[in-house]
Amino acid sequence: MSRIEEDKRTVRQMVEIYCHGNHHTREGLCEECRTLLEYSHFRLDHCKFGENKTTCKVCPVHCYKPEMRERMRRVMIYAGPRMLWHHPLATLRHLWREMR
Ligand SMILES: [Zn+2]
Repeated sequence: MSRIEEDKRTVRQMVEIYCHGNHHTREGLCEECRTLLEYSHFRLDHCKFGENKTTCKVCPVHCYKPEMRERMRRVMIYAGPRMLWHHPLATLRHLWREMR
């Protein structure tokens, strides 16, 4: 799987955890979270580092517009610790890439 694809999957998993926990959706995502997810996928498609990208957290380029960045930050704070429980392998791979 490409880095971009892997990141897309990670973001989707995190937004799902956040949406289910905070907006009480059972399946899929609410309107707000779907918009955020689509926005982040769009940003990933246009990431100028492409396959050489690190993770967005340590990326020097802040390509998100402020409002979306704030929303994504809230998702990360909520879903970050829970990811380890729901998707341990994906989380470890992600952390590993951040350290290199
Ligand atoms: Zn939601």
